[in-house]
Amino acid sequence: MPKNKKEGKRTSNIPQKDNKDKGEKIVVYKPNMTVSMLAEALGKPVNQVVMKLIQNKIMASQTQVIDRETVELICMDYGYDVNDEVVTDAARFDEFKIQDNEADLVRRPPVVTIMGHVDHGKTTLLDTIRNSRVALGEAGGITQHIGAYQINYNNYPITFIDTPGHAAFSQMRARGASITDIVILVVAADDGVMPQTEEAIEHAKAAKCPIIVAVNKIDKPQANPSRVMEELARYNLIPEAWGGDTIYTNISALKGTGVKELLEDIELVAEMQNLRANPNRLAMGTVIEAGLDKNKGPYATLLIQNGTLKVGDVLVCGDTFAKVRTMEDDRHMRYQEAKPSQALMVTGLDSVPQAGDKFMVFESEQEAKAIAEERKIRNKAKELEESKPKNINDLFNQIDNKNKELNIIIKADAQGSAEALRNSLMKIEVPDVALNIIRCNVGTITEDDINLADGSKALIIGFNVRPMPNVKASAAAKKVQIRLYRIIYDVTNDIEAALKGLLDPVYEEVVTGYCEVRELFKISKVGTIAGCYVTDGYVSNTALIRLLREGIVVYEGKLATLRRFKDDVKEVKAGYECGIRIDGFNDLKVGDVIEASISQEVKQ
Ligand code: GDP
Repeated sequence: MPKNKKEGKRTSNIPQKDNKDKGEKIVVYKPNMTVSMLAEALGKPVNQVVMKLIQNKIMASQTQVIDRETVELICMDYGYDVNDEVVTDAARFDEFKIQDNEADLVRRPPVVTIMGHVDHGKTTLLDTIRNSRVALGEAGGITQHIGAYQINYNNYPITFIDTPGHAAFSQMRARGASITDIVILVVAADDGVMPQTEEAIEHAKAAKCPIIVAVNKIDKPQANPSRVMEELARYNLIPEAWGGDTIYTNISALKGTGVKELLEDIELVAEMQNLRANPNRLAMGTVIEAGLDKNKGPYATLLIQNGTLKVGDVLVCGDTFAKVRTMEDDRHMRYQEAKPSQALMVTGLDSVPQAGDKFMVFESEQEAKAIAEERKIRNKAKELEESKPKNINDLFNQIDNKNKELNIIIKADAQGSAEALRNSLMKIEVPDVALNIIRCNVGTITEDDINLADGSKALIIGFNVRPMPNVKASAAAKKVQIRLYRIIYDVTNDIEAALKGLLDPVYEEVVTGYCEVRELFKISKVGTIAGCYVTDGYVSNTALIRLLREGIVVYEGKLATLRRFKDDVKEVKAGYECGIRIDGFNDLKVGDVIEASISQEVKQ
């Protein structure tokens, strides 16, 4: 059992705050601010604030949420300024931005994820490695699944994420968490590269994780490891033997052959990565798994990515607050503290966080609680906002407007149609907008596609394939767009339209019509109304106008009113009379010509 080593005070994760705002009369506006929260911020009795509201003709109870304008109104009465809430915790919580001093950094174990196609042996390999602990002289015993385990190979600890498959990996990535240092790509030597092998490569590359290839099932007579190498070389995973830099190891996960070599490879790659952390600071890291146990209450497996986590520490993960009660590994061993790259199941949480949530330890329990609370409120507000009906025209909301690019995942019924679709899409050329096909393969739309799309803000195109209801639901939950097609032309048409939608609109002025000023009516306090006759086209009430006198522009501006008889109208066509008042200009003359135009978006 690891001992609780005595050590110096851990440094805080939070930069010190300054007090320069002290003494200023400022109320910090928060979303969902209630009347009583405002009263508290003002240091006034809530009844007094309610009275103030009534004086301002606003009826609101103490618990009622008031908008920013109302808060400002009341604050003004009390001589307070209103500042928007600085999302302090986001800054304080941006753990990876906090730099450690070079001198404080020490080596930390690598965190490894095993990925590959179904049935290629990921689970078997994870089990074999876990069981090798006994052979390596560590305690065995009954294990529990907590989402990660650590082995100690030649006094060299390695942490394995114990959720085989890339679903968990891509889910984490989709949530912005990067937890893996090395990916082991398991490929069965009797089967070769399969669709999920390809997906795994895509995920690992996107996360910029080094890949070690474990060519599995070499005990099988049909095993053909060199075919695997050839196939993978096409994905730029060139074996060292061929002058590349990808490590390949032949293993039999079932029999344990080559597993030691694989662990040595991990050690080697980790060495090159120079993985380091500062154990002498408050911990921070990521939630690997979380759940609710009827005895333990909410629990989470936390991967410590920096610092040391101790029993009794207070932390925030997502919008969950926790005071660490117990820490356990997969062998039910209890720990008083956990070092970088350790993953332990922690209890003492006030709710269940989500896998991929980042966590951070705080010095002050009060502060941690306040941040968790703040986040709960904000998440609720966000949920409410998101549940509002969306505009149907918001069709391609996956598009990254800032970078002007559209990521696409193609799933088709056959290789031929997938390729044909890819080729047609690649032919679309819209200046300044990039189209990236980040995945193009055969098969129905899967959960993994949704995760990849979610992580990379991609649009999924299903060609002659249909997603299952659960996948559809997951896409809806993550707001991933799936578009289903049967005709290539329709796809290219829609995508082209979407890409064009990304361009900044260009407007041009289009003249819609002319009218002649025939009579003038001067109305005091209103101005001059021109009795006009529309000679050409039409005039609309939103028109931009030019007043022409003998062909010379004497005024440019907007219409103030457009009337037929006494009624305001939107438009008057050629052959009709109308009354026009020009905004800010009264010096009209009979015989003047009004040229009306509109500003129109140029279709590109
Ligand atoms: P996963 O879906 O990738 O997790 O694959 P599993 O670990 O569940 O393995 C799928 C099947 O392949 C199981 O029946 C395993 O016993 C078998 N298997 C895994 N590794 C080996 C191996 O090295 N040799 C042989 N012969 N079979 C293996």
